[in-house]
Amino acid sequence: MNISLIAHDEKKEDMLEFVSRYKHIFERHTLYATGTTGKRITEETGLPVHRFLSGPLGGDQQIGSKIAEGNMDLVIFLRDPLTSQPHEPDVTALIRLCDVHHIPVATNIGSAEVFVKSLK
Ligand code: PGA
Repeated sequence: MNISLIAHDEKKEDMLEFVSRYKHIFERHTLYATGTTGKRITEETGLPVHRFLSGPLGGDQQIGSKIAEGNMDLVIFLRDPLTSQPHEPDVTALIRLCDVHHIPVATNIGSAEVFVKSLK
């Protein structure tokens, strides 16, 4: 499966811990990520990640285009609900595209766990 991983700054540590914990599952899939998230995941876990631009610079929209083209199967988007983001319209657009194309999207660790365990 093609899986996108995105984490806002306050959620990056959670994402690194999560991907490390389920590395045995993630290593069987093709991973995509926004710029900084992908760089940190590769540094932490050694997993190969196709990196797009950083989220605020258009990375969310690049992932959105993969979704629109039918090339993404799952999105894990650990967003920070307590900090306003300069690219909030892009965040909303990405989640909207997931809904348009029926792509499962987890926006917190709880739902991400359920999805990833279902990939086993
Ligand atoms: P980043 O982008 O991985 O480049 O930090 C994430 C985001 O803020 O959408």
